Amino acid sequence: MPAKSTPNRAPSTAPEFRRRLLRWFRKHGRDLPWRRTRDPYAVLVSEFMLQQTQVSRVESYWPRFLARFPTVDALARARPSSVRESWEGLGYYRRAANLHKLARVVATEQAGTIPSDTAALRRLPGVGRYTAGAVASFAFERAEPAVDTNVARVLRRAFHPRARGAAGERRLWDTATRLHIRHGRSAWAFNQAIMELGALICTARIAKCGECPVRGACKTGKKGLRTED
Ligand code: SF4
Repeated sequence: MPAKSTPNRAPSTAPEFRRRLLRWFRKHGRDLPWRRTRDPYAVLVSEFMLQQTQVSRVESYWPRFLARFPTVDALARARPSSVRESWEGLGYYRRAANLHKLARVVATEQAGTIPSDTAALRRLPGVGRYTAGAVASFAFERAEPAVDTNVARVLRRAFHPRARGAAGERRLWDTATRLHIRHGRSAWAFNQAIMELGALICTARIAKCGECPVRGACKTGKKGLRTED
């Protein structure tokens, strides 16, 4: 059955969902190194690395990469072979090549300043809708949605269990936008928290509804619906 038309307001359970999610994240969110910075360059590097790579692996590569290329200008000046060498072991080298290109564009065309606006971010090499939202949110604390695989899974199970395909994806982005908290640190925390829930509790392999903080505000959790994607 096709997804229904996009709703024009947040789900009625949104306030409870946000409140419970944020409370849980304050207690159980992991202290990941890129969560301690708001440096846009450092956040960008972490986002490029985290695409298709496990957190534990990125935890060791990220500080080494930043030690070798501490600023966007330093990365822009680097030789492709050095960038490649620093990326070795992470795989998907295309990400490193795009990050290098991005650094050169920012250094030469934007005086070394990474933009905070999602439209400007999306014009940079290798930056799609998710990465633009993540950088705007995690570096600049802007109330922008960032729907990666984990977030999409949580939103689908919690609010739109039947959402599938391109229309379903639009609906998830729309709900992520409407769920958002409109100010600084809470906007940052909301995106981190929903990603964390998808990584630790509402996982692709299993939805641990019995220990989930948002169960009371989740369609799937409340009704005991099937949780496979
Ligand atoms: S209640 Fe279950 S399905 Fe809903 S968000 Fe939590 S783990 Fe996922």
